Formats: sequence, C-alpha cells, structure tokens
Amino acid sequence: MATRIDASWVLMCRAAELKDKGKAVRTRGRDGQLFASETAMWTTIKAVQIHGGYGYMAEFPVERFMRDAKLAEIGEGTSEMQRMIIAKSLLRDGYLPA
Ligand SMILES: Cc1cc2nc3c(=O)[nH]c(=O)nc-3n(C[C@H](O)[C@H](O)[C@H](O)COP(=O)(O)OP(=O)(O)OC[C@H]3O[C@@H](n4cnc5c(N)ncnc54)[C@H](O)[C@@H]3O)c2cc1C
Repeated sequence: MATRIDASWVLMCRAAELKDKGKAVRTRGRDGQLFASETAMWTTIKAVQIHGGYGYMAEFPVERFMRDAKLAEIGEGTSEMQRMIIAKSLLRDGYLPA
C-alpha cells in the first residue's frame, strides 16, 4: 500500500515539475490522476478488509475513506475517460519520455 502511494506521489510530482518548468505536461497529469485515484480505491478496500467488520461499519472512518476514494475514480474525469485520452495520445504521438 505504501509503495503504491509513494508511486502516486512520484507521478504527481513529475507532472507538477513539468508544469513548474513551463514544459508540456501532455498526459503526465492524467497518468498521475489515474494511478493515484485507483491506488486510493485499492488501498482503502484493503484497509476495510484489514479492519474486518469494524472496517465496514459507519461508526469507524475507514468505510468513508473507501467511499471518498471512489469519487476520485469518477469526478474530474472517470478512469475510463483518462485511459481513453492517454491511449489516444500514445497512438497519436507514441511514447514520449518526460
Ligand atoms: C460526489 C460527486 C461530486 C461531483 N462534483 C462535481 C463538481 O463539483 N463539478 C462537476 O462538474 N461535476 C461533478 N461531479 C460529476 C462528475 O464529474 C461526473 O459524475 C463524472 O464526470 C462522470 O459523468 P457521469 O456521472 O455523467 O457518468 P457517465 O458519463 O454517464 O458515465 C458512466 C460510466 O460510463 C463510463 N463511460 C462513459 N462513456 C464512456 C466511453 N466512451 N467509453 C468507456 N466508458 C465510458 C464512465 O467512465 C462511467 O464509468 C460530481 C460527481 C459526484 C459523484
């Protein structure tokens, strides 16, 4: 879980660095958003499982974290849309290293 969260952070920092330097961000921001939002979902599902029945109950914040993570896969561009846009960019431009 920590490794995927770290990887999300690295992807987001890469996009932010490109933006700060005035370079083309291309799909780097989408890579980061897609990976980070799916990591949030994957991580919080595991967190619910680790907590067992307590993880599922509304009295504990873990299930709310899971619902909140789901929004990241829907709002500001669903994961499906992110994948389509990334794929279109790859098919048009090929893979361009940052
Ligand atoms: C809690 C919450 C807060 C929100 N806040 C805001 C806000 O502040 N501002 C704002 O503008 N919007 C907001 N939204 C709306 C959000 O941006 C949309 O729900 C989101 O863009 C998805 O659009 P949709 O709900 O119309 O789903 P649809 O476009 O109907 O999509 C339904 C499903 O089909 C998939 N899909 C659709 N088309 C394709 C395709 N061509 N290929 C493959 N899969 C496809 C989608 O990925 C999705 O999984 C919010 C939504 C929620 C749940």
